Amino acid sequence: MSATDDFVEIHRLVNLLQAIDVGLLVVDKAFRITLWNNFMENHSGATADRVIGKPLFDLSPDVPREWLEQKINTAFALASRAYTTWEQRPYLFRFKSYRPITGMAEHMYQDISFVPLRGLTGEVEQVAIVLYDVTDVAEHKMKLEAANRRLQADSRVDNLTNVYNRGYWEECLQQEFARYRRTPRDCSLVMFDIDHFKAINDQYGHPAGDEVLRQVGRLLNESCRSTDIIGRYGGEEFGVLLPDTGPDNAQVMAEHLRANASALAVPYKPTPLRFTVSIGIAALGPGIPDAKTWVMLADQALYQAKNTGRDRIVVFEDGPAEQQA
Ligand code: GH3
Ligand code: MG
Ligand code: MG
Repeated sequence: MSATDDFVEIHRLVNLLQAIDVGLLVVDKAFRITLWNNFMENHSGATADRVIGKPLFDLSPDVPREWLEQKINTAFALASRAYTTWEQRPYLFRFKSYRPITGMAEHMYQDISFVPLRGLTGEVEQVAIVLYDVTDVAEHKMKLEAANRRLQADSRVDNLTNVYNRGYWEECLQQEFARYRRTPRDCSLVMFDIDHFKAINDQYGHPAGDEVLRQVGRLLNESCRSTDIIGRYGGEEFGVLLPDTGPDNAQVMAEHLRANASALAVPYKPTPLRFTVSIGIAALGPGIPDAKTWVMLADQALYQAKNTGRDRIVVFEDGPAEQQA
C-alpha cells in the first residue's frame, strides 16, 4: 500500500468514526481530548475545534471527575476494556433525550465503554470513550418495572403470608353477604389474631415475627377447604370466610386451627417460636344488616376471647356472645 493509499484509508476511517451513531471521544494520558466525533458535537453543542486539546474535565461540571479519572487510569494501567451500564450510572454526559414526545426521560441514558488504544510502540497512549444511547432500552425497562410494581401492589395475594390481601378479601366478604341476601344459607366468618405477637417481635426481632406470620399463612392454607376464603385483615389479624358453614361447624374448624397453632413450634434460631391465637366467630343471620357489621361482630367476639384469657374461641350468634372453652 502506498502512502497515498494509507492516507485515503485513514481519511475514510476517520469519516466513518465521525459519522457513526455512537458518541466517541479519545483522551491522552493528561485527559486532553484528541478526538470528538459528530455525535458528541451534536449532543453537547460543543464543536470539535473548541474541545480538541482541552482537558476533558473542563468541559462540563456534570462530568463525574473522580469516577471518570479512575476508569480512564485503569484502562491505561491494565490495557483492558471496561464497560459500565446506565443502571450503574445513568449517563456520563448530561445530554437531552431525543424523544421529547414519546419518551418520558429528560436526559439520554448511556452505556459507556473504555477502550485502550495502543500506539506504534505497543504501549497504551490514549483511551477511547464510547457512549451508546440506550434511552429506549432504559425507558422500556423502567416502564416494565413500574408496571410490575403496580401489578404487585394490585395483586390479590399478600406476599408474606400467601393468603388474600385485605382489599380483595373484603370484596369477597361483600359478595358473600350479597349472596346471602339473595338466598339465605349458612355462612360463617372467623376472625383471629395472634396473641402477644408484639412480644415475639420485641424478643426475637421482626424477621422472627415475619416467620410466624408466614407459618400462620401456611397453617391456614393447609387447614381450610378450597372454598374457604382466607385473608390477612391487618398486621397479625386474619379473616376466614366459611361458605355453607353454620356456627357449629365453624367452631369445629376454629378449634382445629387454635389447637394446631398452639401445638406449632416455628423453626427459628436460637429457639423455636411458639404462640397461640384468639378467635372470634360470627355466623351470618337475618339480624346482620351489612358486611361491615358482620366483621364488627366477629371482631367483638375476638376481643372477648382476648379479654377472657386468649388462646380461645368466642362465637357470636344472632344474640348475645357465648363463650366456649
Ligand atoms: P394481643 O395479644 O392483644 O393481640 O397483643 P399483640 O402483641 O399481638 O398485639 P399488638 O396489636 O399490641 O401488636 C401487634 C404487633 O404486630 C405490632 C406490629 O408491629 C406487629 N406487626 C404488624 N405487622 C407485622 C408484620 O408484617 N411483621 C412483623 N414482624 N410484625 C408485624
Ligand atoms: Mg395480636
Ligand atoms: Mg392485632
